[in-house]
Amino acid sequence: MSRRNLLFLTMLSAVLAGGTIIGASTHGAAQRRATPTRAPIPNDAPPRPENATACNYQDPIDYLVRENFVVKWRQSPEEQAERRARHEKAIRWRTEQFGYFEGFGQASWNASTPSDNATRAEFMGLPVRLNSKILPALACVEEQIRAECGERYRPGRLSGLRTRNTYHNGEVSNHVYGIAIDIDPNLNTCCMCVAQWGDHPLCQREVESIYERMAMPSCWVHVFERFGFYWLGRDALQDTMHFEFLGDPSHILKTQGVPPHMRRE
Ligand SMILES: [Zn+2]
Repeated sequence: MSRRNLLFLTMLSAVLAGGTIIGASTHGAAQRRATPTRAPIPNDAPPRPENATACNYQDPIDYLVRENFVVKWRQSPEEQAERRARHEKAIRWRTEQFGYFEGFGQASWNASTPSDNATRAEFMGLPVRLNSKILPALACVEEQIRAECGERYRPGRLSGLRTRNTYHNGEVSNHVYGIAIDIDPNLNTCCMCVAQWGDHPLCQREVESIYERMAMPSCWVHVFERFGFYWLGRDALQDTMHFEFLGDPSHILKTQGVPPHMRRE
């Protein structure tokens, strides 16, 4: 193994151990290969089939989607102010629903922490710690994946709740609320997360679709997305391993009715 490969593997292990790290050090940039180009994201979700599960289909709530609140330098001051307000609203929603995480929002919004509300669950036969409120949605995702996507992909590792925030830019990761799940972080890339990830062979290769940069089948993405999970592969980070529940947890089950943000009067 060359020194460069060794360096790459060491850095990759650090990324895998710590998850998404934004604004990480650019140390070693001189040895780095080209920054990966963004992979095109196909608009290929098939029509939603008849829903035989116990859960409602639901879309993510708009202001919870990262792309809708991240502030970018080229935006006007008005746009930036609007986005900051949306971000505050998203932090308040997550705190009230899932628990208070120190440093984000106010402790008075929720007396419990995300760790208090987390449960050890199982997804596709693997253990994962997540907020108990979202588990019914995940169970419906599993049921539908098994019915629709076949057995050709079996994940080997999951990552759920974290007690440390891995964003370094004032944002808070949905992992700290226990509402995000990473699937096979070593196989499903995040080419724009940190420079080190960008050196991964799958990130370096020009591709026609983001699906070529991951091991998980696109069928999994389509199923997760029907049940209120947002796939961070769509985000500027292109984090293909990561799904986060951005729906309304009080309307996951059909017995709870269609979520208000999905109602058409
Ligand atoms: Zn993640």
